[in-house]
Amino acid sequence: MDFRFTEEEEAFRREVREWIKEEVPQRWYDLGPGIWEETEESWAISRVFQKKLGQKGWLAPGYPKQYGGAEMSVGKQLVLSEELARADAPIGVETSIAVGWVGPTIMLFGNEDQKEKYVKGVATGDLVFCLGYSEPNAGSDLASLKTTAIGDGNDYLVNGQKIWTSYAHYADYCWLAARTDPNAARRYDGVSMFVVDMKSPGITVNPIINLLERHSFNEVFFDSVRVPGQNLVGEKNKGWYELMIALDHERSPSGGIASFAKTLEVLVDVARKRNINQDSHIRQKIAQIAVEMEVAKVLAYRVAWMYGKGLHPSYEASISIMKTSEVLRKQAEVGMAVLGPYSQLARDSKWTVELGKIERLLLSCLSIGIGGGTNEIQRNIIAQRALGLPRGR
Ligand SMILES: Cc1cc2nc3c(=O)[nH]c(=O)nc-3n(C[C@H](O)[C@H](O)[C@H](O)COP(=O)(O)OP(=O)(O)OC[C@H]3O[C@@H](n4cnc5c(N)ncnc54)[C@H](O)[C@@H]3O)c2cc1C
Repeated sequence: MDFRFTEEEEAFRREVREWIKEEVPQRWYDLGPGIWEETEESWAISRVFQKKLGQKGWLAPGYPKQYGGAEMSVGKQLVLSEELARADAPIGVETSIAVGWVGPTIMLFGNEDQKEKYVKGVATGDLVFCLGYSEPNAGSDLASLKTTAIGDGNDYLVNGQKIWTSYAHYADYCWLAARTDPNAARRYDGVSMFVVDMKSPGITVNPIINLLERHSFNEVFFDSVRVPGQNLVGEKNKGWYELMIALDHERSPSGGIASFAKTLEVLVDVARKRNINQDSHIRQKIAQIAVEMEVAKVLAYRVAWMYGKGLHPSYEASISIMKTSEVLRKQAEVGMAVLGPYSQLARDSKWTVELGKIERLLLSCLSIGIGGGTNEIQRNIIAQRALGLPRGR
């Protein structure tokens, strides 16, 4: 097995690196927003950059050309995502939501009109999606969702509440899970998936301020929101399967791994500068992180490889996201230890190190073991789907 990239892939890496240097404005780096830390200004820069990526087919590189992609090999896709991460380019979770999770699911279940409009729309960077899954009483137990979409002529009327809806305040559309048959015998039946225009009358978006004291997610209320029947994706009452496929995509963090490697570089750099690389305790911990990151990387590569072969990773994706989240958390904790009291300084303090990146990582990375299913839920999936253990209650 040869884990190295080919000469062609390395040449592509150089091309991407040059392109990114040209296209990311210095202002982006001055603002330096991390995950879940967007501001109006950083968001605007991201939108412009992502449209440029879209024009090259690089925003959704694995998509068919017909839908705005580049039909790129898995190897080159990994190179591209590594370079974007290495450069801290203006790519955030909103890209993962639209291009990584919603787009591929609509590609699989949607009709031609829907693919032309939504799949192409996310690949060109023109459309932003939010995910309408979680509700106040339906998170891990998503099958308890209560939001309804009841037929009314050719339309559906949606009523209910979603919560933790990332980027609902920016999104053009919501990828919504709603109950179309409240009387279905099994809770998993009677759920359908819709694309809902966020400008529809009856939608109210209220901000929730996150741990980083930024507005990244929301609660969203649907009050008799009229959704055209043509916005139903896939088969009515069979949406649970679409939801599971979309969640498997969400648990496939291949691109993200590269950005964590970048944080390790920061960690090593800080350890050197603070002259604590002689401290064997810290050395041990940083080396341990480096090893675990390699493990996480290989697990993520396996998931990417499976997609490349037309296979659908399920428990493999759960293993990958779980390991990724654990490594990230450890990385942040070790970073805090390396920085000592400096780790608690806010990014605007004059004594802060690397713009408070480590402290911000600690606060933001907690989300990775929660969104898309908590690590406990990933372990339940692995126990059930990989090991054949009985289903939990
Ligand atoms: C940053 C962030 C962004 C998010 N963005 C979105 C979004 O855009 N759209 C969206 O729909 N949702 C989003 N979420 C919500 C996320 O999907 C839920 O928080 C998650 O599914 C957990 O649900 P919950 O918060 O209701 O916790 P609960 O389900 O109430 O879980 C509470 C605790 O109980 C544990 N637990 C629950 N059931 C089991 C079980 N069967 N076995 C073992 N342990 C169990 C959980 O692991 C957890 O520790 C986001 C969350 C975060 C943190």
